[in-house]
Amino acid sequence: MITKAYKNLGICKEVYEFGMKIEEELKERFDEIDKNAEANQIKVLAAMQKNKVSAQCFEGSTGYGYNDYGRDTLEKVYADTFKGEDALVRPQITCGTHALALALMSNLRPGDELLSPVGKPYDTLEEVIGIRKSVGSLAEYNISYRQVDLLSDGSFDFDGIKKAINEKTKLVTIQRSKGYATRPTLSVDAIGELIAFIKSVKPDVYCMVDNCYGEFTEDKEPLEVGADMIVGSLIKNPGGGLAPIGGYIVGKKECIENAAYRLTSPGLGKEVGASLGVIPSFYQGFFLAPTVTASALKGAIFAANIYEKLGFEVVPNGSESRHDIIQSVTFHNRDAMLAFCEGIQAAAPVDSYVTPEPWAMPGYDSDVVMAAGAFVQGSSIELSADGPVKEPYSVFFQGGLTYPHAKVGILMSLQKLYERNLVNKDLM
Ligand SMILES: *Cc1c(COP(=O)(O)O)cnc(C)c1O
Repeated sequence: MITKAYKNLGICKEVYEFGMKIEEELKERFDEIDKNAEANQIKVLAAMQKNKVSAQCFEGSTGYGYNDYGRDTLEKVYADTFKGEDALVRPQITCGTHALALALMSNLRPGDELLSPVGKPYDTLEEVIGIRKSVGSLAEYNISYRQVDLLSDGSFDFDGIKKAINEKTKLVTIQRSKGYATRPTLSVDAIGELIAFIKSVKPDVYCMVDNCYGEFTEDKEPLEVGADMIVGSLIKNPGGGLAPIGGYIVGKKECIENAAYRLTSPGLGKEVGASLGVIPSFYQGFFLAPTVTASALKGAIFAANIYEKLGFEVVPNGSESRHDIIQSVTFHNRDAMLAFCEGIQAAAPVDSYVTPEPWAMPGYDSDVVMAAGAFVQGSSIELSADGPVKEPYSVFFQGGLTYPHAKVGILMSLQKLYERNLVNKDLM
């Protein structure tokens, strides 16, 4: 029955049967992911109960947004779930880059230095920091930047980090997910080890973690291993696919206070900022986020195992542990990369009939191709694939609000490669 449904979608018997063979081998891994989702579901539930979430929380506010009970309670729910002292969770934070820029610009002052001990940060942060010249960057405000790359085996360069920390170093930014790089994603424990080292060199430095794509992939978050701030986007994991906009910063009270005075205005801080009509989706999305993240993780593991078997480089590989929802597949072939993206697009519930085309997206230094047919535009907790269209032609695949949908998407991507003879059929 189900094979007929796949056939109607345009997925042939060979592709479907290969997928089933791969899926069969993943039962144990999927069990582990479900157990992690259960632990995180309980955490979110407990935070909602502790803070007495009620229908009153869903009313929202307009105008100045004074005394927005739903907004203030949601921030307590985030703080409790992620184990921070305070939180800023707002629709006025437009995206992940904005949340990160806000955390940096509000906690750094002219003359301070920012350090990345994990190599080059996410592309869009290059302009925030001023690594690439841009208007309004930290560099324009006389905030300097230093970077220590990971060693060739992916481990921390502790000697280099110690040398890089100086009297000006005020804030250390640690990116949990690999983003568009091909380095490993950091586990929460690895982040804890790095933070302990940094604090042993300079105890009063702020450690900020770019938590994008990492939320709920493990049973603890970076604030539990010593981070001062975690920062992320609500159109990724913690929005659960329902938040239509937003970003968050959770952490030390003083860090959040600084961010709030920068987001709104000195003197106003967290007191203003109407939640409009979006607050119920923030709550409901956060409630669903553990299982939605689990679906995305299963999809990523399924993709890794499919494409690994077919001889492509996949990061992470098919069997290693996961600390974010991103899967990269490297094709070294433009046509194969675009075929993959076409398949993901063709499997979408929205805009399935369009063909993704490479374009010069703001903030990126080469053309980017994006496959996404999402209910929330640009949402990458929904099934999506993207990547810079240049050697090595790596595609970054992520999301899937449900595992069955992620599975269809991956099989559809393979179908496109299969039809165009871009895979070695003997390996299937
Ligand atoms: C997505 C992402 C960002 C930026 O978020 P946007 O919402 O796209 O602005 C920053 N860092 C990492 C690691 C990300 O994955």
